[in-house]
Amino acid sequence: MTTTERDWDAIVVGSGMGGLTTAAYLATNGLRTLVLEKHYVAGGNAHVFRRQQKFEFDVGVHYLGDCGPDGGIPTILRGVGLEGKIEFLEMDPDGFDTLMFPGLTFKVPKGWDRYRERLVEALPDDETGIHRCLDVLQGVAAEFGKVQMPVAPEDVPRMMEEAPTFMKWGMRSLAELFDDCHLGQKARAILAAESGDYAAPPSRAPILMHAVLIDHYLKDGGYYPKGGGQVLPAHLVDVIRSHGGEVRTRAGVERIVVEDGRVTGVVTQKGEAIEAPIVVSNADLKRTFLEMIGEEHFSAQTIASVKKYRMALPLFCVYLGLDMDLRDKIPNTNFWVYSTYDIEGLYQDCYEGRIPDELLVLITAASVKDPETEAIAPKGCSSIEIMTLVPAGYEMWGLEKGPAAGEKYHKNEKYQAVKQRLTDALIDGAEQVIPGLKEHIVWKEAATPISQEHFTFSTGGTSYGLEIATDQFGPSRPPPKTEIEGLYLAGASTVYAHGIGGVMSGGVGCASEILGRNLAREVREGRVYGDPSKLTGGGPDWDPWEASRGVAPAKD
Ligand SMILES: Cc1cc2nc3c(=O)[nH]c(=O)nc-3n(C[C@H](O)[C@H](O)[C@H](O)COP(=O)(O)OP(=O)(O)OC[C@H]3O[C@@H](n4cnc5c(N)ncnc54)[C@H](O)[C@@H]3O)c2cc1C
Repeated sequence: MTTTERDWDAIVVGSGMGGLTTAAYLATNGLRTLVLEKHYVAGGNAHVFRRQQKFEFDVGVHYLGDCGPDGGIPTILRGVGLEGKIEFLEMDPDGFDTLMFPGLTFKVPKGWDRYRERLVEALPDDETGIHRCLDVLQGVAAEFGKVQMPVAPEDVPRMMEEAPTFMKWGMRSLAELFDDCHLGQKARAILAAESGDYAAPPSRAPILMHAVLIDHYLKDGGYYPKGGGQVLPAHLVDVIRSHGGEVRTRAGVERIVVEDGRVTGVVTQKGEAIEAPIVVSNADLKRTFLEMIGEEHFSAQTIASVKKYRMALPLFCVYLGLDMDLRDKIPNTNFWVYSTYDIEGLYQDCYEGRIPDELLVLITAASVKDPETEAIAPKGCSSIEIMTLVPAGYEMWGLEKGPAAGEKYHKNEKYQAVKQRLTDALIDGAEQVIPGLKEHIVWKEAATPISQEHFTFSTGGTSYGLEIATDQFGPSRPPPKTEIEGLYLAGASTVYAHGIGGVMSGGVGCASEILGRNLAREVREGRVYGDPSKLTGGGPDWDPWEASRGVAPAKD
């Protein structure tokens, strides 16, 4: 028998950081809010997984920016009553990212001025171009705060006055800026080396994206949440549950129900009907529109845009448990190892469906970023993640339809062979910064774009939502409010873009749309909606992973 629940003011489909932030802001503002997550633990890309009761691995929280006391993420957390609940550990201020190219290693320091000095020191022939390029990037980032997105035609004169660099450069490509500054290939490569954070080459990346990304790291350094990535979703789950809401895991949604142009609730994969006048989808954008709701409920123009959107290139990740302690052996940094200065070429290979011969290898070690949390790796051991960009598509994996369509892949020989080849290549790359690594591997596994699709249902196995590109940025991305009454969006594919900071801002923006107030401004002015005395998270015996789970009620 199908059950019907009618207790909720709002349902959030998906428990990524965008969905959980929206839900926490709704719940603390008095809406009875239900989060439904299909995976067995909340957090989406911010969840962690554990192996051998010894190692913990982050899926998508490797480093965060703007986490000082009044930074973006701490401010959002403060608004729901979580001030001081999460400690952010700073990475090496002298180099939170270390960029390694043939014959040149560049440590990215905290602070625009130091960054500028160091770039000029490393590339004296490009001095004039570097200054010009950084003036534009720093100007765009600084002026971004004055911009109301989307820019209304009547606001243009004010913006031309108050944000001239943003208006001139923000939506142009990074490559255009590099050309304008007559930068050489080495300078371009170093400046764009962290483009893996948004998975787009200079020819496609909007200057605004690059400027805001590097600014949010440079202005206050790189950070990692003490206790591992799972503390972020776990504390938001606590806020939701302690303010009249609920978060259910293993509770996938099959359909979002729309009647006469407005949302009325959802039907879960187990067949339960749950009614609510507001539904927020934090799930994949294309699947939300085309599969969970259906083309017939939207305008032809919306459906044409949704079908046309390109997804960001996916990532391939290797997770290693080591019986060797890297604490104090390697700096607290992310290593970006490139064997070429041709970053455009590397992306071009991916766009043309080829795994690049000269792979980017990004190495990060959670047990170095948070040396005290033994759940990540006990003393004497280490937990590391190694990542690279790969082409999208099923063919290179020997698949046809993909796991979201029910295709099995674990025993597919081609799939396993490609996975093995890439795993070996990334481990070889990591040996460059951790010599002897191979001798110390006691746990090894890899996640492909196919695994990403399997776990999060993301189209094309992407990690970052819609591709970040000049024709898919700013007003070209969907806002939180849709044309269907009661249907809202939160997450990486919206106008707020991806990254933990991006989707959390988007969650506040989504809740603001629903409540008809500017919550970001209210919180900046000191408003706190959550009641800290109700919260149960934190403390020595609290396990963020367990706190992020919950079982959906059994079907009748
Ligand atoms: C390998 C990797 C490295 C990254 N590194 C960083 C980093 O260092 N710093 C940083 O800031 N960002 C990083 N990111 C990006 C960041 O993790 C993501 O942008 C962000 O977590 C996405 O949040 P989201 O709100 O879009 O939701 P998602 O994380 O995409 O979660 C969506 C959730 O919806 C659920 N869902 C989907 N369909 C349904 C359904 N039908 N019913 C119920 N639930 C459903 C999924 O299971 C999932 O839990 C990384 C990402 C990856 C993958």
